[in-house]
Amino acid sequence: MTTTVTVLNGVDTIGGNVVAFETQTARVIMDFGINFAPADSQPDDLLSNGVLPALPDLFTGIAGDKQTAIFISHLHLDHMGALKYLTKLTPVYMTMESATLYAELIRQGLESAPNAQVQVIAPNKDVQIGDLTVRAFATDHDIMGAVMFEVTDGQHRFVHSGDVRYDGWHPERVTAWTQYLHEHRPDLFFVEGTEFSFDDDTSRQRRTEATVLTDFTNAMASDELVVINPYERNVERLMNLSAAARQANRELVWDERFAGILRAMGVSNEIMLGQDVTVADMQQQPGRYVLQNHFDNLHLLDAFDTFSYLHMNGEPLGDYDPRYAELTAYLAQRGVALQLVGASGHATPDDLLRIAVEVDAKMTLPWHSFHPEREAEALRQIGIETYLPKKGETFTFE
Ligand SMILES: [Zn+2]
Ligand SMILES: [Zn+2]
Repeated sequence: MTTTVTVLNGVDTIGGNVVAFETQTARVIMDFGINFAPADSQPDDLLSNGVLPALPDLFTGIAGDKQTAIFISHLHLDHMGALKYLTKLTPVYMTMESATLYAELIRQGLESAPNAQVQVIAPNKDVQIGDLTVRAFATDHDIMGAVMFEVTDGQHRFVHSGDVRYDGWHPERVTAWTQYLHEHRPDLFFVEGTEFSFDDDTSRQRRTEATVLTDFTNAMASDELVVINPYERNVERLMNLSAAARQANRELVWDERFAGILRAMGVSNEIMLGQDVTVADMQQQPGRYVLQNHFDNLHLLDAFDTFSYLHMNGEPLGDYDPRYAELTAYLAQRGVALQLVGASGHATPDDLLRIAVEVDAKMTLPWHSFHPEREAEALRQIGIETYLPKKGETFTFE
């Protein structure tokens, strides 16, 4: 039996890693992200300029000849942003948490409904796509429901790490899948390399979900209003922030978007702005509240004389986004310090090497990084068999 593995996108960038595993009759596509596409882009154009993965039968009228399914490791745009361009109705597998979040984002108009049959894949249960078997393993990343994937054809084993970190709340999940893989020696291990993207900066100290909560708790010690800007898809963090606020005798007030997501994800008794608490309430007793503020509603903060502002990986995420300058200018003009108290969802370079050592694949392929060659070099230096894949490259396994 012959299985081919084709690297379709995302070899030297953080956006849009896509890989296809194919036999004579079946095709499994892993992650379906996109790097950047203007709002009015057409699938045809994005296909011809290589922004969409080279899978013409999914985006045009060209017929496909194989049973096909797409698997989404988690609901970040760089792993699922191309779904909305599907023109052919395609089965798309994701975890229950991802599917629930996706449905809510679509309901709120934050994602467009894809031409997909969304199906749920449970961790540790096999899904059969023709003669290929896919298994998901729970992992740790800064979004709920994140998994990594293993694909087998009965003779060969291929692994897509998805995004992963070792210093989140669930390192035992990462240990579980690396130990499993160690016993089964994958033929190919695609490993993310996000944190190899950045130049060494010793002043940039590592921050974790735990430090987010510590900094948040410290900020709440004052009697000012505390304003936070987290990312709505990191629901576990939202839940932890809410619990920490209650511990500090404050109520965390969510906007409609965040309250809707929390409700959809099964979190009840959350406080919604306008419905449960008003701006006037917060003006009267600022020390009793924490206000979640999305950049879209930045000028809501005009209502407060003073507050502290904790940026926790919400939008705008960094200075590559023009809105970031707007945010910093607004806060500067208000005399409020911008406190960066977010945390990365990605493993440190050392932890990525540790994961590769633990997995001990026959071949490790770094990608999902602006500098995968740095990761490749570091892997080789510790004796890991490494290959830097190129866009469009196909590996054949007989
Ligand atoms: Zn991610
Ligand atoms: Zn990613």
